[in-house]
Amino acid sequence: MLEELKGKELQKKLTKKFNNAWEQLKDGDLNKVMDFAEGYKEFLDKGKTERESTDEIVKQALANGYISFEEIMARGQIKSGDKIYAVNRGKGVVLFSIGTKSLDKGMRIVGSHLDAPRLDLKANPLYEDGGIGMLKTHYYGGVKKYQWVAIPLALHGVLFKKNGEKVNLVIGEDEKDPVLYITDLLPHLAKDQMEKKMGEGITGEGLNVIIGSIPYKDDEIEEKVKLNILSIFNERYGIEEEDFTIAEIEIVPAGKARDVGIDRSLISAHGHDDRVCSYSALKAVFDAKNSEETIVGLFVDKEEVGSMGNTGMESTFFENVVAELLNLQGKTSYLDLKRAFSNSKVLSGDVTAGFDPNFPDVHDKRNGAFIGKGVTISKYTGSRGKSGSNDANAEFLVHVREVFNKHDVTWQVGELGKVDQGGGGTIAYILANKGAEVVDCGTPMLSMHAPVELVSKIDLYETYRAYKAFYQG
Ligand code: MN
Ligand code: MN
Repeated sequence: MLEELKGKELQKKLTKKFNNAWEQLKDGDLNKVMDFAEGYKEFLDKGKTERESTDEIVKQALANGYISFEEIMARGQIKSGDKIYAVNRGKGVVLFSIGTKSLDKGMRIVGSHLDAPRLDLKANPLYEDGGIGMLKTHYYGGVKKYQWVAIPLALHGVLFKKNGEKVNLVIGEDEKDPVLYITDLLPHLAKDQMEKKMGEGITGEGLNVIIGSIPYKDDEIEEKVKLNILSIFNERYGIEEEDFTIAEIEIVPAGKARDVGIDRSLISAHGHDDRVCSYSALKAVFDAKNSEETIVGLFVDKEEVGSMGNTGMESTFFENVVAELLNLQGKTSYLDLKRAFSNSKVLSGDVTAGFDPNFPDVHDKRNGAFIGKGVTISKYTGSRGKSGSNDANAEFLVHVREVFNKHDVTWQVGELGKVDQGGGGTIAYILANKGAEVVDCGTPMLSMHAPVELVSKIDLYETYRAYKAFYQG
């Protein structure tokens, strides 16, 4: 057969070219891409923390006919076609669409994370210095500290009053809200700072947030600015300084997701890593048609700090929920739980670095992902010789390639960067350690972990299409 092909035809047949996904769009599909991005931008604006994202996912799940895990447990039975959501302490959630096969036959899972790099308030944050009220922070995840100064910031958090009442704080997102701010040194006085390495010019202890500057009117007392800030918090929200010591408060960039480019092809926002995969998975769970296998949208917390704790992927939460559902299917043996995991197929939905023309030296252009070339399969992650990586099995990738090609998904391969340039990890290895087949598959992006990051709308859309294809098989 091949002898009949010559030149261009033979080249087309034998070589693999990763196409630009915009060019693969069928007539009329451009609107679908743009509309999908609008929904994503709303999702980003409503959820700027793992808690807010969880709430938004639950809201959308309820609107799509999902019922709570607690309700299912009270009912005491499940059947195929049931749609269930289970919330993990308000910071993570898992959606199940139950298939005709029991869970021990395996699930199709897309796992992504809802937490993003940011600044957290310390336990005793509020102080006053030089007539300015400040909040002390401890950064969360891999941030470049110098990126967090001199930009408008918002505060999102959860506090509890002494009477147990929960207060959800959001300051800085409404256009009429004040924002917060971290100063940088004026260039006129930055001689010493400018000679430092970039990683040292702004320190972790230097990331203190301005929260006010009007003194409380009283000649008798010290720390008048601090008292005035506390009295405003108390007046508006009924909280006291002690309530901050047990609170969870995050500082994120203020403002909404925005289109980027004259052609509106990209989106800038806080927390694309990893809400771009989360949103794609969410919509794919809702839209996928698969009556046989149970399909699962898994949204976890704490990925950016190593997946530890009872809201991270390392926790037993997901396993426990699966065990409870198996029990309702009459599968009560520990073996059934083991089988449920070892028979499962997983896409670990996380972002990867796209080729950045401003920093071409860190990429291997033959193996790195490109913006606009669609969803990215990363066979392995890790650093220094794939260390710490889930290295997906070729046999499983046969399946992934088959479903992506069957559904015309525009996909590419992507290794995070050049060998020994750095590296990264995801939740992939955790589910793989339980016996599931797992591969990293997500959206390429630019400026990863910056306060405001960048993704392409077509890559977002192809990520959604890839997850839906994977669920449907
Ligand atoms: Mn991530
Ligand atoms: Mn990350």
